[in-house]
Amino acid sequence: MARHIDSVCKLCRREGIKLFLKGTRCDSPKCAIERREYAPGMHGQKRSKPSEYGNRLREKQKLKRFYGVLEKQFRRYFQIATRSPENTGEVLLSILERRLDNVVHRLGWATSRAAARQLVTHGHVTVNGRACDVPSALVKPGDVVAVKNRPHSLQLVKLNMQSSPPPPPDYLERSAAEPPEGKITRLPTRSDVDPRIQEIREQLIIELVTR
Ligand code: SF4
Repeated sequence: MARHIDSVCKLCRREGIKLFLKGTRCDSPKCAIERREYAPGMHGQKRSKPSEYGNRLREKQKLKRFYGVLEKQFRRYFQIATRSPENTGEVLLSILERRLDNVVHRLGWATSRAAARQLVTHGHVTVNGRACDVPSALVKPGDVVAVKNRPHSLQLVKLNMQSSPPPPPDYLERSAAEPPEGKITRLPTRSDVDPRIQEIREQLIIELVTR
């Protein structure tokens, strides 16, 4: 499987916004974008006016990088979204929100989507009582996502969990029982998208991909 192996902070610096890819470090003064607020690379400090194409491309890259999705997978989600009778941009965002790694992160069991992805691939998460190690699996209303009921998994999630995790979005119901579990109550909508990427302009992405 292809994956990004360079410093993820460079991705934030390239996009010019915090993408919150490193968990608690992102909210600390160690955040790279706060110290070097310019694009990485030799010409990163040069100022040039982005083209229309450049603006659209940056918007798409921001969304992909925020959710940790690569181009091929992103195109697949886009295809699914275009087949829906509803607004393509909103359906695309809803699909990204339904990814299992995103749900684990938004339930507060991992400080970043990368950490959530690792929890899933290492087999610490179940969906409807069955082990699921596919971070891109899409959950649906009625599904119950839980931490595997074994000491190692429970301890890992406790270690990973933020001391006071933010409240889950409206489409998720979090239970404090042991093992921790969360229920998907309905399909996520545009307003349920992670507040940190709420300002994404999905229309520009549609214009780029359907060009
Ligand atoms: Fe981005 Fe987090 Fe790195 Fe800051 S610390 S640049 S928000 S990944």
